[in-house]
Parts: sequence; C-alpha cells; structure tokens
Amino acid sequence: MRFDRRRFLTTSSLALAGTAFARVPWAQPAQTPAPPVTTFTDIRRNVGFFTGQGGTIGWLASAAGAVAVDAQFPATAKACVEGLQQRSPKGIEMLINTHYHGDHTGGNATFRPAVKRIVQQERCAKLHRETTEKAGTAAQQAYADVMFGESWSQDVGDEKMWGYFYGPGHTGGDAVIVFERANVVHMGDLMFNRLHPRIDGPSGASIRNWITILERVAKRHTDATFIFGHGKPGQPVTGPAKELLYLRDYFTAALQFVQKGIGAKQPKEEIAKATELPGFADYAASGTALTLAGVLNAAYDELTR
Ligand SMILES: [Zn+2]
Repeated sequence: MRFDRRRFLTTSSLALAGTAFARVPWAQPAQTPAPPVTTFTDIRRNVGFFTGQGGTIGWLASAAGAVAVDAQFPATAKACVEGLQQRSPKGIEMLINTHYHGDHTGGNATFRPAVKRIVQQERCAKLHRETTEKAGTAAQQAYADVMFGESWSQDVGDEKMWGYFYGPGHTGGDAVIVFERANVVHMGDLMFNRLHPRIDGPSGASIRNWITILERVAKRHTDATFIFGHGKPGQPVTGPAKELLYLRDYFTAALQFVQKGIGAKQPKEEIAKATELPGFADYAASGTALTLAGVLNAAYDELTR
C-alpha cells in the first residue's frame, strides 16, 4: 500500500512538472512514433483474434490455459502475451506458427519465456531456420520444439486443436490451425481479404495447390469462422468459408489471365503490367510486397516452369 501511494505521489509530481515545464523538450510527447494500436476481439467459446502489426494472431484463453497462433513482431507480441496472461492466469500453453514469415514469427522470442512450447509444421520450421540463419537474425528468433508433418492435435482444457498441412500454398510450408469445438479456423496467410496476396516462390509456394487448399478447407469446415492473415484496410480479418472461395476465384482468374497472355506470346513483363485483374477490381495493393504484378509474375513462373 505504502509503495503504491509513493508511486502515486511520484507520478503526480511528474505530471505537475510536465504541465509546468510543458515547453521543455523532454516533457513533450509525440517525438517518437506512437506504438501500434492492439486489440483483442472475441469470436466464441474462449477463442478470438488479436490485431496489432503484422499477421492476425488467433488465440484461445480459458481457465485451462492460453494458446496463440502466430506472433507478429516483438512490440505487439508483448501486448499479446500480457493480454493472454491476464485472460488465462494458468499461463500460455503454446505458440503455434502458421508459416515462417517475419510478421508471423518475429515475436516468437517475446513469447518464448512465457510459453511451454512452440509448434510448427516441419517445412515451416526448416524455412524459418534457413532464412533467418541466412539473414543473420538467428539470435533474435525462437524456433519450434514440436514439429509435425501432415497433421497434429492437442487438447487444451475443453478445446481440441488441430494443425493440418495441405501442401504448398502461400509458402512451401503453411499450416491451417483449427479450434474444433469453437469451430474457428486460422488460415494464416493462406487468406488475404481483398489484398493482392504474396506468393513466396523461392520457398516453394504454388498458386495451383493454393487453389486446391482453399477449396478443400472451405468444404471441410463449411460453417466455421475463419481468421485471415491480412485484410485490406477497412475489411474484416475474419469471415465465412465463401471468402476462401472468393480468393480461389481470384487465383483462377489470375492463372487464366496469364495463360491467355502466354498463348498470345506476350512477354512476362508485358503481362505483369496489367493494372487490374478482370472481375477483381476490389483487390488492393500494399507496399511493394503485395501487388497484382507480384501475383502475375508468380503465375507466369508457375505456368512456364
Ligand atoms: Zn506470409
């Protein structure tokens, strides 16, 4: 109590000092950029999603413990860890990564001391290790201690979790994570909502198999709520199975568009100059990584491989 009061007094004096010397540089806020806004949103049955910076995090937080699916970057991972610990006093049982990209694994080291285990599909684990060792950032990573091939399952309290590998899609190793009883499916970056998706060719991505994955997962979990890795600003990062089929149709259109160009002997650069994919004008670009040209180039490579 005494400690609290002292802290209160100190804070009050500082606040007063801040007012009195408002022109003193150190008393002025807003010199450093504001930290990203983070939000926890419930879906149902102790399962929800967290947004901050990077790929959407899925979570389970019950009396039996918490689970996080993906880790974003260190700053927002910290907010996620703290929020999950508050919601689940028993602590965080595990962190699962949907794939190796930095905006999904960058916060792993922040989760590390707070979680019992990190789970990854084995191709994701291999890509995570190889790419970060090559980039010289291995010391800032936390790697998996549980790996799986085709599928994985674990009970956490009264929830049953599954991980499935359907072959190459967005990368060479993407897992679909299912909260069975809540009927919530985390797609990782196998789902971009109205954003031109990134196709990570060098890691072994495949548009054709990505189409198959979207179809299979939509059919297997017809009435589930899906968590999407990313969405265009203003678009939700969760939605029903029909959104998966919409992305499937986008990819089908992209492959057809490029195939038509190849048939007409158009060079790759010419085909990739298109500013809009016919029928899918609602898809937006973001930075240099998520563009229609990126998708069309990847489609060209895959069709001429
Ligand atoms: Zn990704």
